[in-house]
Amino acid sequence: MKREPVGQKKIKSLFNVSLKKGTLGHCYVLEGEKGMGKSTLAKYLAKMIVCENHTACGKCKGCLMADGETHPDILYVLPEPDKKNIGVPIIRDMIQQVYIRPYEASKKVIIINNFEMASPQAQNALLKVIEEPPEYAVFIFTVASEKELLDTVKSRCCMLKLQPYTKEEIVYFLENYTDALGEKLEFAAAYCNGNTGKGKEIAENQEFTLLRKIVFDAFIEFIDRKNILPLSEVLKKDDKGKANDVFDCMLSFLRDIVGYKIGLENRCINIDYIDKIKTASGKVSLEKVLSSMEKILEASGNLQRNMNFNLTVTQLIFGSLEELHG
Ligand SMILES: [Zn+2]
Repeated sequence: MKREPVGQKKIKSLFNVSLKKGTLGHCYVLEGEKGMGKSTLAKYLAKMIVCENHTACGKCKGCLMADGETHPDILYVLPEPDKKNIGVPIIRDMIQQVYIRPYEASKKVIIINNFEMASPQAQNALLKVIEEPPEYAVFIFTVASEKELLDTVKSRCCMLKLQPYTKEEIVYFLENYTDALGEKLEFAAAYCNGNTGKGKEIAENQEFTLLRKIVFDAFIEFIDRKNILPLSEVLKKDDKGKANDVFDCMLSFLRDIVGYKIGLENRCINIDYIDKIKTASGKVSLEKVLSSMEKILEASGNLQRNMNFNLTVTQLIFGSLEELHG
């Protein structure tokens, strides 16, 4: 029996109640950033729907087939191989299958993960079927941000935003799905901002630990000696994913400085760096640290909006962060 995914109680209970009352809608969108477990949740909700008891009991035929991804009434819509998008032909093909009645369950569930891969044309091709779906059809889409959806699609769907996982949920998740123990587990749980995927990555990935060390050392060098080179070296390569990890590291370092400055050092996340954080906190003012954090968040947002990489990074390092010294 597959385990119930951790957390997201509100969404699970919405499905549970709607299934019991027979008021389940036709079209749901699960929205949440990468690593939040959207596709795992979508799979679980589909299992609830096809379960003979509507509880995802894990024991009935429906559940067993759902777990094995062999249930004939759960349809996964995938992008074309080698292409990273879902085009009109895929949607048309899916629509044809939607009109075939379910074989085993009373409902037919159509899951499209990473719906941001669907082109505007593909989303348009979908409109009619989600507006007037066959009575047995339930669509579940997952998407990183609702901004990726056409308004016309959004208005026909029930939008459900995944909530950040609580500390207890993250710890439970890491204990059960990674080998991390003790300090490493604690650190990953504290560092991941309520995102289980990120927590797992941090717990398992040596690269992140290494990157954090490089960024912290570069930051300390900057605060100690006003030497900007190591920091610009870390951010030299035009790599948005890495830049975001670097920004996260910087923010976490500065957050701990703030914690230290306002007497909440017991809340510091980077416990292994506590001495260096203490030293650094004596060299910068609270006001400057807070304004630097704002600038980093701004730079991170600019990269998300696809602003020029070098410009954003240069502005951040040579403009805003210089202010730290005041
Ligand atoms: Zn079941």
